[in-house]
Amino acid sequence: MSTYGIDLGTTYSCIARLDSNGNPEVIRNNEDDSNMVASVVFFENENNVVVGQAAKENIETDGDRVVQFVKREIGKRDTRTYEFDGKTYTPVEISALILTRLKNLVEAQGNTIEDVVITVPAYFGLEERSATKQAGELAGLHVLSLINEPTAAALSYCARQFQEDRTILVYDLGGGTFDVTLVKMSMTRNEQGKDVQKINVLATGGDDKLGGKDWDDKLFEYILNACCEENGLTPQEIEAETRQDIRSKVEEAKRKLSKKQSAKVRIDVNGSRTEITIKRSDFESMTADKVAQTMNFVESTLQKVPGVEVDTVLLVGGSTYMPMIKNAVEAKFPGKVQQHDPDQAVAKGAAIYASMLVVEEGTISDGETSAEGGTSSDTNIQHAEQLTAKFAVEDQTPRSFGPGVMDTKGSKHKYVLENFIKIGEKMPAVFSKTYYPLEDNQERVRLRAFENMSTEDTLIPCVDEDGNPQATDPANNVKLLGELVVNLPPETARNTPIKVTFKVDASGVHVEAVNTKTNEVFETFLRTESDIDVDNSAVHQLRISAD
Ligand code: ADP
Ligand code: MG
Repeated sequence: MSTYGIDLGTTYSCIARLDSNGNPEVIRNNEDDSNMVASVVFFENENNVVVGQAAKENIETDGDRVVQFVKREIGKRDTRTYEFDGKTYTPVEISALILTRLKNLVEAQGNTIEDVVITVPAYFGLEERSATKQAGELAGLHVLSLINEPTAAALSYCARQFQEDRTILVYDLGGGTFDVTLVKMSMTRNEQGKDVQKINVLATGGDDKLGGKDWDDKLFEYILNACCEENGLTPQEIEAETRQDIRSKVEEAKRKLSKKQSAKVRIDVNGSRTEITIKRSDFESMTADKVAQTMNFVESTLQKVPGVEVDTVLLVGGSTYMPMIKNAVEAKFPGKVQQHDPDQAVAKGAAIYASMLVVEEGTISDGETSAEGGTSSDTNIQHAEQLTAKFAVEDQTPRSFGPGVMDTKGSKHKYVLENFIKIGEKMPAVFSKTYYPLEDNQERVRLRAFENMSTEDTLIPCVDEDGNPQATDPANNVKLLGELVVNLPPETARNTPIKVTFKVDASGVHVEAVNTKTNEVFETFLRTESDIDVDNSAVHQLRISAD
């Protein structure tokens, strides 16, 4: 079966599928002797683009030709682009290069790959999701669906040990990001009358600038200082080559310290060989504040769901291999901590989900040869069918959505955002409401659609000194997605009802407005940022209440 799950990570990516016994397995990256592909791209020259460990090795020497952490840029407004050899690359195109590398791992085993599920952080909004999907398509993949990373991790955990209703806290410390997610697993009966385990995201938190890299930086500083001490030099006297040498050995030393009590590194300090020994206990003291920071995020995420009782804590992300992490989490949640393949769990969960979807769709392609030889599809189908019977991953709206309209009730007109669909609602989600033109004989309405993180019914978007609505509001992350222009026939009365409907599904937001007098329908599909000609004049708005 050619369905795969892809964890497109900030620092490392991973691809998995179900093996011939229906168990998730990661596709090896033999070239880098790893289960991962570093999410790093090196533009060596116009004919050669390198992705993975080899690209990572060029960060110090050819930093301006290396792109890393592109996941932080994907789907962002006014995002940066990258230029190499006269070509411009968008974050979507860079991500597609990483996905292509993962695709090649499968093809190198003689298998074909088409249908995939790609994972995204639970906090990704519509544009980030849509851009991730585009990257997949650009890499020649058919993206069956996206799935939230913590949901995928929970799925791979539950596929391994099926349990009754429980609340899981997913602690995901990767290379550049820290995500905390509260996930609820609950038994419900699905439409076919089967009892299934439903997976819902309750709350998310974390920091997209906190990750393994911060531990690397501390260790770098420590080794640099030790090199200075050993050789009687000041940090300013350390040559650039020496710094590079340290930088390239830091991550390996960190990994060694996850297994052993101490690690040795040999550094060429301005031409003289110096051996530095780092004790795990020292590494732990110098990074204790980082661990504490993650625990503060755990605390603040728990507070978002009053009265929540955590049954299980799942450790996810490569950085949770560090014993200090497990110890800190264990101290807070004694006996509740679980850790299984922390760097692969997300990809494996996505692989499980991909096969569940294929079973649901009934579009299984059969007869493909597995890595070990033999036909894997039968057992895979069976296993996937069992999983589908057990799980229902309910797709939830990643954000709240609604139109901007005029509230004319007070003495001063206010431009407000009415949230039609709230974050966390089951998808597809639909909501309609009737509004009215602001004035008699109004020629048209420019109906704006917003995305935000608030769960309030009504929000007042930030307004500039002229009273014009702004696209962003830092607190609620209000973002203008686009607008629908509704033309009104001449002599339209101000009490003409205009019915506005928002429909949100995994592929985007569908906005519809119906002039209920003429039955004329206007609609638009907002998938990514559209060009918005900002014209904020009040004559183009709808108002909430009739006279
Ligand atoms: P992503 O951030 O892309 O989701 P991962 O979850 O794979 O990536 O985490 C990558 C981070 O995990 C890197 O900072 C890496 O150095 C770190 N890491 C991986 N293995 C270990 C280990 N054995 N000990 C300590 N850190 C590790
Ligand atoms: Mg990750």
